[in-house]
Amino acid sequence: HADVAMYAAKNRGRNNFQFFTRELNRVADERLHLEAAMRAALESQSFTVHYQPKVDHRRRIVGVEALARWTHPELGAVAPDRFIPVAEETGLILPLTRIILRQAFAAARRWNQQRAKPLCMAVNLSPQLFLSDDIVAQVAGLLREADLPASQVELEITESVFMGDSERAVAVLSDFKALGVTLAMDDFGTGYSSLSYLRRFPLDTIKIDRSLVTGIEHEEEVAMIARAAISLGKSLRKTVVAEGVENQAQFDFLRYQGCDEFQGYLLSRPVSEDDFGRLLEQTGGTILPAASPVA
Ligand code: C2E
Ligand code: MG
Ligand code: MG
Ligand code: MG
Repeated sequence: HADVAMYAAKNRGRNNFQFFTRELNRVADERLHLEAAMRAALESQSFTVHYQPKVDHRRRIVGVEALARWTHPELGAVAPDRFIPVAEETGLILPLTRIILRQAFAAARRWNQQRAKPLCMAVNLSPQLFLSDDIVAQVAGLLREADLPASQVELEITESVFMGDSERAVAVLSDFKALGVTLAMDDFGTGYSSLSYLRRFPLDTIKIDRSLVTGIEHEEEVAMIARAAISLGKSLRKTVVAEGVENQAQFDFLRYQGCDEFQGYLLSRPVSEDDFGRLLEQTGGTILPAASPVA
C-alpha cells in the first residue's frame, strides 16, 4: 500500500510540475503576445483615453480622471489591469503614457473653450516612470505643446513609488510641484508601506481606494477604516477624494465624513471625450441624483 501511495504521490508531483511548467509557458506566451500587440497598437495609435468625472459635495463636476483604453482587433477590449503591467515590465509605459498625456491635455484644452471654469485633468503615472531622468521635462514639454496650464493637471501616483529609491522619488515629486501640477496619492489604503510618506512628500490629494468604499453603507469595519482614512487626510489638509462610489448611501456617508470629491459609477462611468462633452452640456456641469424609481 505504501508503495502504491508513494508512486501515486511521485506521479502527481511530476504531473504538477508539468502542469506548472505548462502554465508558466502559457503566461509567458501571453505576455509576449500582448507585448507584440502593444507595440503594434502604439505604432498604429490605437490607444485611446476615456474620462471619468469627479464631483464636489454638491455634485458639480470639478475634474476628470484620464483612463487608458485599448481595443485589439482580435482580443477585443483589453483592460488596463492587463496591459499596464505588461507596459511597465517592458518599458512601453513611457511611450504609452506620452500618448495618454497628449490626448488628455488636448481634451482639457478643448473643454476650456466650452466652459468658464477649467476642469482638473488627472492622469495616472506608473512608478517606473520616476526612474527616467527627464520625466518632469517630458510632462513640461507636453503641457507647452498643448498650451495647457500646469495648474490644471493632477498626477496620480501610488505608494509603490516610495518603495524603490525614495530619495529620488522625493526629488522628482518636488520638481513636479515646482512645475505647478498637483499630486495625488492613488488607491490610498491598499499599500503596505508606512504612513510616514504623507509627511515627507508634497501630496495635495489622497484618493481613498474603492476597497474602502465598497460595503461602507452596511459593514461597520469598512466604515470605521474609511472614516479613519478620511480624517487622517483631512487633518493633514489634503483634498480627500473617494473612488468607486456606486450608490447614494455611500455618497451620503462619505460626504458626511468630510470627503471633498467623489468618483464612481453612481456619478458616471468613464466615457469617451465626445460623450463627456455631451455630459457637460446636458447636465450643465452638475450631475443630479437619478430620479427615484418609486414616486
Ligand atoms: P485607478 O487609477 O485606481 O482608476 C480607477 C479604476 O476604477 C478605473 O478602472 C475605473 O474605471 C474604475 N472605477 C471607477 N469607478 C468605479 C466604480 O464605481 N465601481 C467599480 N467597480 N470600478 C470603478 P480602469 O479604467 O479599468 O483602470 C484600472 C487601473 O489601471 C487604474 O486604477 C490605474 O491604476 C490603471 N490605469 C488606467 N489607465 C492608466 C494610464 O493611463 N496609466 C497608468 N500608469 N495606469 C493606468
Ligand atoms: Mg487613478
Ligand atoms: Mg485609484
Ligand atoms: Mg484603484
